[in-house]
Amino acid sequence: MEQNMLRDLEHRCIQEEPPYCQTACPLKVDARAFCAAMAQERFDEARKILAKTMSLPDILGRICDHPCQSACIRAETGGAVELGRLERACLERTSPAAPPLRLPAKGKTVTVLGGGLSSLVCACELAKKGYRVLLGFTGTLPGGRLLSLPEETLPQNILAETWAFLQKLGVTRSSEEPLSLPALREGEAAYLGMDDPALAHLSTVGAVDSATYETTIEGLFAGGFLRNGSSSPVWEAADGKRAANSLDRFLQGASLSSGREKEISNATRLHTPLRDVASIPPRNDSAEEAQRCLQCECRHCVRECVFLETYKRYPRAYAREIYNNFAVVQGYHQANRMINSCALCGLCETLCPNDFSMADLCRAAREELVERGLMPPSAHEFALLDMDHANGPRAAGFRPGRTATKALFFPGCQLAGTMPEQTEALVSFLDERFSGTLGVLLGCCGAPAWWAGRRDMLQKVLDTLRETLKSLGNPPLILACSSCGDVFRRLLPETSFLSLWEVLREKGLPPGHPLPNPLALHDPCTTRSLPAWRNAVRDILRALGQPFEELSMTGETTRCCGYGGLQSLVDPDLAKKGVRRRLEESDKDFLAYCAMCRESLSDSGKPVAHLLDLFFPPEAPYEAVGFSARQTNREQLRRRLLGTCDLPPDPWEDVDLIVSPDVRRCLEERHILDSDLRRTLWEASNSARLLVSPEGRMLATSRIGNVTFWVEYRTEGASFRIVNAWSHRMTVEVLS
Ligand code: SF4
Ligand code: SF4
Ligand code: SF4
Repeated sequence: MEQNMLRDLEHRCIQEEPPYCQTACPLKVDARAFCAAMAQERFDEARKILAKTMSLPDILGRICDHPCQSACIRAETGGAVELGRLERACLERTSPAAPPLRLPAKGKTVTVLGGGLSSLVCACELAKKGYRVLLGFTGTLPGGRLLSLPEETLPQNILAETWAFLQKLGVTRSSEEPLSLPALREGEAAYLGMDDPALAHLSTVGAVDSATYETTIEGLFAGGFLRNGSSSPVWEAADGKRAANSLDRFLQGASLSSGREKEISNATRLHTPLRDVASIPPRNDSAEEAQRCLQCECRHCVRECVFLETYKRYPRAYAREIYNNFAVVQGYHQANRMINSCALCGLCETLCPNDFSMADLCRAAREELVERGLMPPSAHEFALLDMDHANGPRAAGFRPGRTATKALFFPGCQLAGTMPEQTEALVSFLDERFSGTLGVLLGCCGAPAWWAGRRDMLQKVLDTLRETLKSLGNPPLILACSSCGDVFRRLLPETSFLSLWEVLREKGLPPGHPLPNPLALHDPCTTRSLPAWRNAVRDILRALGQPFEELSMTGETTRCCGYGGLQSLVDPDLAKKGVRRRLEESDKDFLAYCAMCRESLSDSGKPVAHLLDLFFPPEAPYEAVGFSARQTNREQLRRRLLGTCDLPPDPWEDVDLIVSPDVRRCLEERHILDSDLRRTLWEASNSARLLVSPEGRMLATSRIGNVTFWVEYRTEGASFRIVNAWSHRMTVEVLS
């Protein structure tokens, strides 16, 4: 994975951008974390958060003029969080922590002239950095304008405590009085705090750089000027702090400006959605007031995706983690599951204000894992074998139109597997509408290989498809599955295709059987960029008189059913969580128009109709078909539509199985197919390599491909009742 790709992705994700309040705060106080602590009445913790960026919090926390409040986006829903009031509440409830540690002495002296807030902060910061600081002020206590504030605003003992605190840090008083520029000769550099009225006579120091506070006099820095004609305590403090940073750089011979963007920036790219945020007015109680803070962040995508939510991070952090996993050899296993659990559904990209695509990231990472030989074979093998089956001679094939081939119907592997009778009825209907010019192509588009990062396998499928289409004169395709649509659109862009729904709308619908109650319409995630498919479905429903409702996440923001990206095979629990979240969007029965969406959603027991059911009603309510039946259905459909293939039947084809619903569920979860059971039992019968329990249960084993199967069974006449079965990816030798 390229560093450049990582950088680009990292830049796109704005989750780590500072919130609006912090950006507007000249001191960059982490108001979000402060509010979180205050909301839980963790006052000492809240004070620590203030003190991280706010020198002398006991003064500033009480008198700050809080420009952050005018930036707070809570203003739109009840009123800005009253951060100034919260800071004061925090300081009134807590005592100062121990004085901060000083860095080792630098052996250099700075003169700080003025006793105003900016000078006090500048002196404090320089002392912490290890400078000898001489503070020049008039009167007995430093404070400048602060000395005249009323007691209820700023208890004056705090100023005395502050001076004592600065002295503990090593700050001493300058001997120069009255304050004059010659006093600056005492140190190697100096700061003039213009917020002390006693320095009014020195206001002609010349131009001052607004970012570095440098004056035109070498080594002289100045700050604490009025802002918009009046005094701003937080800006005075910020001037003192930023000037201290400049002085430190100056004295160390470093650049005064480079790398200081974050310190001085007042912009953020953060985008916090306010959808669903209830309006709450300010509260008197400080914890309740702090709870009004929205903890502004983006996480737009995380809120809507069970995968992102489950792994508890956000795309920028995932990007770094995935990259690090390629750079550091240890840790592959940990990251593999995460990389393979994304449904590649594209919702995050649609929601993200900057189009961050976790799907692209995870797909690229899967491809790299495969190329480097680091993808565990167990991750996607079952799905890839199923794809091979769907494209194998027993299930795949094509027939041209009877008179010509003007269009080619490609139902895809899942419609053929889950709804073979309706697929057959549909082919007869289309045959008629196309007057003998409809060809039929059975097989899989290669989506599983694409999702699994198996470029080699994908290429093979795409090459075969290209050749077949060419041999038929490249007719336009009619696709029933939007995953096929997505594959053709992105990987075979030279093909022309339409959705089955557009074709039916255009050619006329079969007789309809609408259901009486409204259905909740679920768009497959692969129609996110196929609006024509979605529109055609809605037109058909209206023409049919089928009442339906839109879900809250619909159209291009639809949710994945959990099959996308092979998520349900890698992490079935996660996929089920996604299904549950989807189904919670409506208490109505659902309507799907992708066979796999219907299969995944109905696995939870929810009634889910398929659009084709409204034209070719099924005899019984649909229940999830499962892997084994899908394979059998595909083979049968192939025989009915295209005739028997040339391959002889497998010798174990006639092994008769009896499987109870409970065992069936277990087999599905363990990805054990009837064909695996049949072959294992057939091999056992022919080799007599069996274990027999005292109760008469038998255990047979067989290695098929990379997997060893174990089947526990009883015989019932000529049939085999399956009691249990499991499989391992290991070689077992049975010694006889
Ligand atoms: S939507 Fe997600 S990926 Fe995009 S910026 Fe926000 S957190 Fe990052
Ligand atoms: S809601 Fe909270 S995090 Fe957001 S801007 Fe306001 S104070 Fe800051
Ligand atoms: S599952 Fe979908 S929304 Fe979630 S990260 Fe993957 S592509 Fe994005």
